[in-house]
Amino acid sequence: MTKFAHDTVVPDKESNLNKKQQVAEMFDSIAFRYDFLNRFLSVGIDVGWRKKAISQLKNIQPKKILDVATGTADVALMTYKMLHPEKIIGIDISEGMLELGRQKIERLNLSNNIELVKGDSENINFEDNNFDAITVAFGVRNFENLEKGLKEMFRVLRPGGKLVVLEFSKPKQTAFKIFYNLYMNQIAPAFGKLFSKNKNAYQYLNDSVQAFAEGETFLTIMNEAGFTQTYLKTLSLGICTIYCGSK
Ligand code: SAM
Repeated sequence: MTKFAHDTVVPDKESNLNKKQQVAEMFDSIAFRYDFLNRFLSVGIDVGWRKKAISQLKNIQPKKILDVATGTADVALMTYKMLHPEKIIGIDISEGMLELGRQKIERLNLSNNIELVKGDSENINFEDNNFDAITVAFGVRNFENLEKGLKEMFRVLRPGGKLVVLEFSKPKQTAFKIFYNLYMNQIAPAFGKLFSKNKNAYQYLNDSVQAFAEGETFLTIMNEAGFTQTYLKTLSLGICTIYCGSK
């Protein structure tokens, strides 16, 4: 298996735990503030990014969808609202994030349509060729082994199905880069620490974005995992990117 630079970026370099355990613990600890910090730190722009990513599935009208690294189910809920599939299953390694997601689903009376289960993207607990579409928002950067995660998603996708990945990327424009680096290096970690009480989480966000194999490189990795008809769309001056691929 190939190791990519971000595979080895961990929340706490001093910890003896592996990346997967550290990431699960970190999201468990910040879950109570996760939705608030997403909206606050992105000034609400993340909602539009998610909508645009889900729109990539409109042309295939998927009935059964897997939302990988579902977290607090924002993408699963928005996908249900936008595409009305028969069933969405969300998997995540953080029970703390899933519990908040389940509460949101129950409040909206959607427990029959959206189900959240504990599950690892690198060892997906479903049979081959199972889902019409797979979504993963801000998840792949957190995987311990990106190649394994992508191959697993390819395996459970049915032929003709489509994967949509939404992930942070780095802006290219020089003037904007200065503001972006200040924001990601100083401002976001400071607010993250203040509100989530976790000193590492938002520093890890910056470190993992910096190391992530983004853009055309990510498309090549998707192709190597088996996906075809791959394409990308950059959003908001390049700070976020949508990647798509078919089976
Ligand atoms: N998709 C959600 C969203 O758009 O808000 C949550 C994104 S959150 C930044 C990343 C999530 O990935 C966390 O909930 C974390 O537990 C999950 N995660 C990380 N590695 C994972 C893995 N190997 N398998 C499943 N989930 C994973």
